[in-house]
Amino acid sequence: MADTIFAKIISKEIPADIVYEDDECLAFRDVNPQAPVHILVIPKKPLARLVEAGDDDQALLGHLLLTANKVALEQGVGDAFRLVVNNGADAGQSVFHLHLHILAGRSFTWPPG
Ligand code: AMP
Repeated sequence: MADTIFAKIISKEIPADIVYEDDECLAFRDVNPQAPVHILVIPKKPLARLVEAGDDDQALLGHLLLTANKVALEQGVGDAFRLVVNNGADAGQSVFHLHLHILAGRSFTWPPG
């Protein structure tokens, strides 16, 4: 997988507003927020897209979801939030390093655009 801007955030080559970090993942504020709270949770493992995850990533994917849960609840905007994974360019993915968007702090409509 080619180095992405998120790989450079993991290696601290470029700065980010990091709100959580452990051995497996990193969470930081989106540079172009679409809601009052917009945080990205990414694995340190370089998975380009969700479809590239395999059976051996089961624990990692669970960890990303549970981390998103914790990070969202820590933002002080209640327990309503949306998690989004854009998988592939046609689904809106622009950075090819798996990431979960946490969006919170406003109401959301359905279906998404
Ligand atoms: P996606 O379109 O699902 O691939 O989402 C990529 C997200 O990464 C977008 O919401 C961008 O605003 C965000 N993004 C891109 N570069 C950075 C960066 N350097 N720091 C924080 N967020 C970024």
